Order: sequence, then C-alpha cells, then structure tokens
Amino acid sequence: MKIFDNKTSLQSYLVTISNQKTTIGFVPTMGALHAGHMSLLKQSITNNDITVTSIFVNPTQFNNAKDLEKYPRTLEADIEKIKTVSNAIIVYAPNVEDIYGNNPVSNHFDYDGLEHQMEGKFRPGHFDGVGTIVKFLLEIVHPTNAYFGEKDFQQLQIVRKMVAKNNLKTNIICCPIYREPNGLAMSSRNERLTPVERSDAAIIYKSLIMAREKFIFGTVSVKTIGELVTKTIHSNENFKLEYFQIADEETLLPCIRRSKNKNYRAFIAVFVNNIRLIDTISLK
Ligand code: AMP
Repeated sequence: MKIFDNKTSLQSYLVTISNQKTTIGFVPTMGALHAGHMSLLKQSITNNDITVTSIFVNPTQFNNAKDLEKYPRTLEADIEKIKTVSNAIIVYAPNVEDIYGNNPVSNHFDYDGLEHQMEGKFRPGHFDGVGTIVKFLLEIVHPTNAYFGEKDFQQLQIVRKMVAKNNLKTNIICCPIYREPNGLAMSSRNERLTPVERSDAAIIYKSLIMAREKFIFGTVSVKTIGELVTKTIHSNENFKLEYFQIADEETLLPCIRRSKNKNYRAFIAVFVNNIRLIDTISLK
C-alpha cells in the first residue's frame, strides 16, 4: 500500500501511474475510520481506476479548540482498515505544515448563502475551513470523482457550490448514511460516547423518523414538528438540542410553507454531554 505524508511525493506518484484516460476517485476524511468511510472507499474503488484517500484532521474547520484537541487520531488502525478494502488504495496523510505551511488559516468563501444556515450559524468559520481544505486537496489530486457522505449534507452542497464556482473538473458524488444497528449515524465522534450514551443516542435518528412521518402525513405544522423533536431529545437530561431545521435541499433555507416543487430534508445537531452529533433525513 502506498502512503504519502507530503503532497509533492503524492503528486509525483500520481503522475507516474496515470494518464489522460485514468479515472481517479478521491475520498477525503479526517480519519478514525468507520464503516461509513469504508462505504465511500468501496464506491470509489468500484467506479474508478485509482482511489486516493486523505486522512487529515483539518484545524481550520474547528471552531472549538477542545473539539479539535479531542478529535480521535488513529492513523495506524485507519491504515489497517483501508487495507481490508484494498491494498491498492493510495493514502495521503499529511501534517498541518504540508497543507498550510506555517500559517494554518482558511480562505474566505461565498457559497451564495448556504453557509449561513445550521452548521454555518453554530460553527462560525467552519465552512471557510472546509472550502479551504477541500479545494486544496482537489487541486492536488485532480480526481475525476470525489465521494462525500449524505450525513454531512450541508457540507456536500457547499462543496458542490465551491466546485462549480471555481470551475473544478471533479464530479461530487453523494453516498448514503451508514448507521449503527440502533440507527445512530456512524461518526468518528461516537468513539467518545460512553456505552450508555451511545445506546441512548438512538433517539436522534428516532426523532428524525418521527419528523419524517409527521411531515409526510402533513397534519401538523413544521413548527409543531420542531417542538415535538425538541421535547423528544430533551426527554434525556444529558442531551441538548442545538438545532432542528426542516429545509429546502437546494437552498438550505428553512421550510416555512411547504411547496410541492421542492425537496425537503430535516437536519439536527445534538450535544450528548460535550460531544456534538449531527444527522439528517430526506423528507421525500
Ligand atoms: P469525516 O472523516 O467525518 O470528515 O468524514 C469523511 C467523509 O465520510 C465525509 O464525506 C462524511 O460525510 C462521510 N461520512 C461520515 N460519516 C458517515 C456515515 N455514517 N455514512 C456515510 N458517510 C459518512
């Protein structure tokens, strides 16, 4: 398996193994890999000649220093997991200096308002950090296809916008959410939950399912659905709802009055003690 810790050697290697016709699939991650990440890698392997994955905990997308410090870093275990998918996957695991030199700051991005909703509201600067790292990585790897999880749906839409605005040639592919057996969306942050918290956190997905049923049935207002979800989450005193929003998938603007021509989605962020979890569900 090829593992690179710097962009120059990664790029030189990619030049030697590819030509104009080679398709490159790319899966950017922050490591602490789980079955959700593996599903992205498998999709890339199936659909491309070469698959590259990056493992980099990007400091500029963290608005909370404690969250950055506590983010799990498990490179050796990650590499073992990647090997179980394929030995041919190329891993790029740089340090902060390789990406940012001695100045780890983000560039500013305009995503036509997508950045002002939900994660953008509660994590100031987060999407500038995401745009900075994703653009940087796409410009190093030049992938044909890059794979992103539906779990981070707002991020997916933001990346699509950034790619379009910068005329990058990569197709952005959306991959389905992988869940634990109790329905909790897989996340690297789940590792930080106690077994009881991890089991109780099933309520997050359950409340999304409830919201979906109520929305599709159409007898209660969007506001009432929000109140029901808040009540459900707060029935556990260790859980704190940061936001619940039903929004238009394209603009991410909150749904106030339903329109037949729009696709809606529910988004949720919950603190389980100090660990922040997000999830989403299509309301189609
Ligand atoms: P992360 O390492 O959290 O930055 O995630 C890397 C990629 O994996 C992102 O595109 C995520 O949306 C995706 N991802 C994270 N969790 C899941 C999941 N449970 N199922 C599918 N994809 C996921």
